[in-house]
Amino acid sequence: MKLIFIGPPGSGKGTQAKRLAAQHGVPHISTGDMLREAIAGGTELGRQAAPIMASGALVSDELMLGIIDERLAKPDAQRGFILDGFPRTLVQAEKLDTIVGDSKGNGSGNGAGGLRVLQLLVPDEAIVKRISLRRSCPTCGAIYHLESAPPAVDTVCDREGAALIARPDDNETAVRKRLEAFHRQTLPVATFYKAKQLLREVDGVGPVDEVFERIEKSLS
Ligand code: ADP
Repeated sequence: MKLIFIGPPGSGKGTQAKRLAAQHGVPHISTGDMLREAIAGGTELGRQAAPIMASGALVSDELMLGIIDERLAKPDAQRGFILDGFPRTLVQAEKLDTIVGDSKGNGSGNGAGGLRVLQLLVPDEAIVKRISLRRSCPTCGAIYHLESAPPAVDTVCDREGAALIARPDDNETAVRKRLEAFHRQTLPVATFYKAKQLLREVDGVGPVDEVFERIEKSLS
């Protein structure tokens, strides 16, 4: 399985991608998580990315391509992967083609090497509300929604017992900017894969389990 998830911020990409990766035994590669780890680890990459991410803008293609090139070269990614948050621009999508080398549409909805793209559809109005209620565990990365998927004990991670946090870029100003970046820079990526007949669109509105079922169905 080589799958790319495309969807607006807060569309549930991360949640669904994690599940799908566990189910299919392939790594879940989230560029957002990788950047947040770099920030937490105080690396040079983290120092460069932090202010850009906090503002809701996209990190440069040059930085992202370096990260993904390195990640996809690791042994665990050779059998497959689920990409979450990459590619987010046309430049990234074109470069991914040269790394994976197999997204040439052949009319069957499958690239020669099996690259597929899943787009989660969630309307903008739903996004701002969803994100304002999102919390995550700083230790294990588990994602909660205070209304639809709350932890057992308010604001504490079920697994780790750590205090849940809101991401610094989950404030309304940054969310609006992320949505704008999605429309302007990432939707053309969906169009790019649609032209190659690699794209499946899935309704991302509804309970997590239901959306997951739709995803599985669209991939089978
Ligand atoms: P979301 O999809 O909810 O916006 P992510 O965790 O995927 O969250 O990404 C958070 C931020 O990380 C983005 O707003 C952007 O600044 C940065 N980022 C992640 N992936 C990329 C990418 N492929 N290209 C540029 N910036 C990225």
